[in-house]
Amino acid sequence: MDASRAEARVAEVLRSVFGFEHLRPMQDEAIRASLAGRDALVVLPTGGGKSLCYQLPALVRPGLTLVVSPLIALMQDQVAGLAELGVGAGMLNSAQDAEGKRATWRRMESGELRLLYVSPERLLVEGFLDELRRYGLNGAAIDEAHCISHWGHDFRPEYRQLGELKERHPWLALQAFTATATPSVRADIVRQLGLVDPLVLVGNFDRPNLTYRALPRRDAVDQIHAVIRRHPGDAGIVYCLRRADVDDTAAALKARGVKCVPYHAGMSSSERTRAQDDFLNERVDVVVATVAFGMGIDRPDVRFVVHQSLPKGIEQYSQETGRAGRDGLASECVLFFGGADFHGWKQLMEKSAREAEAGGAATAMEELEHALERLGHLWNFATGAACRHKQLVEYFGQAWELRADAAGCGACDVCLGEIATLPDSQVVAQKILSCVVRCGQRFGATHVTDVLRGAQNQRILQYGHQDLSTYGLLKDKSTKEVRAWIDQLVGQGHLRVADGEYPILFLSKSGIEVMKAARPVTLYVPVIAEKKSAKRPTRHAIAAEDASEAALDVDERLFEHLRAFRRELAAERGVPPYLVFNDKTLALFAAKKPATPEEFRAIKGVGDKKAADLGPLFLRTIAEFAG
Ligand code: ADP
Ligand code: ZN
Repeated sequence: MDASRAEARVAEVLRSVFGFEHLRPMQDEAIRASLAGRDALVVLPTGGGKSLCYQLPALVRPGLTLVVSPLIALMQDQVAGLAELGVGAGMLNSAQDAEGKRATWRRMESGELRLLYVSPERLLVEGFLDELRRYGLNGAAIDEAHCISHWGHDFRPEYRQLGELKERHPWLALQAFTATATPSVRADIVRQLGLVDPLVLVGNFDRPNLTYRALPRRDAVDQIHAVIRRHPGDAGIVYCLRRADVDDTAAALKARGVKCVPYHAGMSSSERTRAQDDFLNERVDVVVATVAFGMGIDRPDVRFVVHQSLPKGIEQYSQETGRAGRDGLASECVLFFGGADFHGWKQLMEKSAREAEAGGAATAMEELEHALERLGHLWNFATGAACRHKQLVEYFGQAWELRADAAGCGACDVCLGEIATLPDSQVVAQKILSCVVRCGQRFGATHVTDVLRGAQNQRILQYGHQDLSTYGLLKDKSTKEVRAWIDQLVGQGHLRVADGEYPILFLSKSGIEVMKAARPVTLYVPVIAEKKSAKRPTRHAIAAEDASEAALDVDERLFEHLRAFRRELAAERGVPPYLVFNDKTLALFAAKKPATPEEFRAIKGVGDKKAADLGPLFLRTIAEFAG
């Protein structure tokens, strides 16, 4: 196919199948590379539109495109979504029965299948690819490609074998996709997969529609409940670290009248499936879960993601928060943290590295170093008072550019002015640091806090610390405040926590400078301005892809009406509501109020098949609402 014809076909398929008018910039380049048979690595954030980069070329060129995916739930979701669009897609995996597999092979023989989703282990079964080649195999996509790198955060041994793919089948063009990759992981993916002269595309990592907040944890249930109350009727995920926390938090929220379900790996598989289905089908709003919940949850209208405690790195944090607002509408991410989270992770990481090393893992200590570094970055992110968007973007190796007219990102607690800096930061920091020194750099944060606040307890008397010159220097501050400032000083690298059994504080080089007032320091009072953020974001606070969208006025009542209608329709069709139409498309219906099939078809997100299947129903519903 010559270039201009291919381009015309791309535009035609984009419009008729997917209902989109324009490709996003990186998609355009990725699709060209794919059609030219060139290897590529495409790094786009969650919600960036990676799927289209392999789905669209698969429909433009003849034959079959292979998609390697790590999770069966993810495959099922994509295959169901493609069926809704009228695209021939199938899968081969261990969850299917023999008849299901036979059906997939039959559809391949008949040439009906254009996309085949498989798990990595399947791919390397002897002769499998050669057989696919007979059915016109014409390209392959590797989804979640960071799973191949053990420098990454989600290494999967079965992905390692994909390294053989290119060796055994040099004729096959490979396109790798991932949402989270630091520059070193990126390079590792290219190396491990053996990509040949790949086009490397790295999209913009910022998610402007997400508002980030990071707050010290006080009463977690109260704090989480406050977030939920800001989003009545909206979907949200509350992540907890431990199963027990999931159960406790879910029970406490339920007792306060929140419609929520727990989800963790300790539940039976039928309980988990039910929780997941209830969430996907909008029967519950809130899922309280461990990280076991999420991969494969493509519900695009998740309006908030709360972390009850610190995840183990920025990769995880960004992946988990990335599940909010995939439809581009305004959504909120709130991270609650405490010093205990940091130390808990650290101990766990050290313990498992020691065990791995004892078990003969040669790279265990090197991996530990990387893991601790990732944890430290997230800790700095949480405790530092710098723009959250900026920190995330820079972590992923990108420059942060602010619009010339903007004072801040406008979408994080720091830039929104919800975090007040402490006016006498320097003095308070000096008091804390010198107290650490006076105590002989042999105590942890709890004891140092007690000394600073002038507490009278057994330990203080035992060590004679009531006589220190720093005793009671911060007696007018609360324990929580002093602890928070110590955490901040650790986060900024001025205080360090000794390795070993007890988390003992000592000063770093920069800490000594701060103590001597030779280096400036900023501490902050992290209080959320509840009233300011209590405002519910409007539906059409869309990360508008063009100016006309930004100016739209969404009829909120019609939107809710259409949402209810969508839920009924989805139940009848046996698919999750978002596969009918996503929220963004619904918002466009509620703004533009199409009255004719032509107007309906012209709305972004409406392809030929859905216009035919669903157009009349939606048009009638919209007309009835108006009448
Ligand atoms: P990712 O896999 O990168 O997380 P998805 O492929 O799920 O992202 O896409 C995210 C959302 O963006 C989906 O709702 C999808 O329909 C939408 N989308 C993708 N490409 C376009 C486009 N060119 N125009 C409009 N919407 C798009
Ligand atoms: Zn900001």
